[in-house]
Amino acid sequence: MKLESIQAAESKLLLQTYARNPVLFVGGHDVYLTDENGTDYLDLLSGIGVSALGYRHPAIESAIVGQATRLLHTSNLFYHEGTAELAMRLTEASGMDRVFLCNSGTEAWEAALKIARAHAGRLRSQGKQIGTRFLALEHGFHGRTIGSVATTHKERYREPFAPVMPDVEFVRFNDIDDLRAKFSSEVCGICIEVLQGEGGIHPVTREFYAAARELCDSTGALLLADEIQSGVGRTGKWFAYQHFGIQPDVTTLAKPIAGGIPMGAMLCTEEVAQAMSPGLHGTTFGGGPLACAAAIAVIDTIRKEGILEHVQQVGAYFHQALQGLAAKHDCITEVRGIGLMLGIEINSAKLAETVAAEMMQRHIILNRTSETVLRFLPPYILQREHVDLAVQALDEIFQATSVPATQLSAGGRSHV
Ligand SMILES: *Cc1c(COP(=O)(O)O)cnc(C)c1O
Repeated sequence: MKLESIQAAESKLLLQTYARNPVLFVGGHDVYLTDENGTDYLDLLSGIGVSALGYRHPAIESAIVGQATRLLHTSNLFYHEGTAELAMRLTEASGMDRVFLCNSGTEAWEAALKIARAHAGRLRSQGKQIGTRFLALEHGFHGRTIGSVATTHKERYREPFAPVMPDVEFVRFNDIDDLRAKFSSEVCGICIEVLQGEGGIHPVTREFYAAARELCDSTGALLLADEIQSGVGRTGKWFAYQHFGIQPDVTTLAKPIAGGIPMGAMLCTEEVAQAMSPGLHGTTFGGGPLACAAAIAVIDTIRKEGILEHVQQVGAYFHQALQGLAAKHDCITEVRGIGLMLGIEINSAKLAETVAAEMMQRHIILNRTSETVLRFLPPYILQREHVDLAVQALDEIFQATSVPATQLSAGGRSHV
């Protein structure tokens, strides 16, 4: 089927949850996706932060093909060879003690919310005073299931499905006073995306994160770090919280972990893990042989090829190039991000939309999030020459579309 007939069929048959670009991809290699006409697109988005080792990486491909010829599924009623191997790698990389494997980001986040409630229940049974409330951050995003949307700030994602999970209060981003004012022994968990992705590439400050850690320690509440977008090497460390050197109690990961095969994980400390017992939580597909084999190959490849260092280096190069661009074009008001999780704030939502569309015309994929932010989540194997190409294209587009800032409506976060 060609693009037009697929579009026609999808518009009749699929739940209309996505506004797709009119492009049909049929293949990929390295940092490129290939459309039906054989045209390559430079991918600066990797799905949405998923295809971290690009396309058709030989180590990932052979792990998946090899596992597919042996065993695809066993259920969690039995052992298979991959789970413990993967858990060893994840606990070593994160400094956490125990792992729950599942199939997506939101499922990992639900596990984090549930273990925070169960942990608080366990503390109450020991006579401690602790409630069931969550604090979450403004502009935070944690997924689309009812618990996850309840902790997601954007009303548009939450309100149509009300009532969502109750007992969630939002704290102003990086506002320690607001955090302290809203925290009490009623709180069982503080939800933090260490580097907000969907919210527009906003890193929490070390001071804010440390204050959350300290408040949690004062009552037994849990610090829940959502690293579904920022984790597994995206920022040049295995987890973004490692830039602070302060461990959370629980962390979640998903997007890049299995090289494109769906997988999520919730990692926690030994103490927190005591809140779970057989039968209390579970999943049919989670931690299956295929996803485990792929994830082991992703982690081993990142290690073997020195990819964390590469992400730091090419990320710094990319950041610097974007700053150069911002110096030339007034419409870029800020450059943010760490490693290969970067964003530029544009002073007009309309202009940001135009630039993303123009880049697509030039066969370079990026994404606009939070209206005014152009987001870059390229494969970790991106090279400087790709950065040069992208920044050159952006420069030309900004040059051609530049409009005096006074004629444009103000950007920023006021839309939320
Ligand atoms: C993508 C994302 C999620 C949700 O993951 P899904 O796999 O889409 O359910 C949750 N939290 C963050 C920070 C994310 O970026």
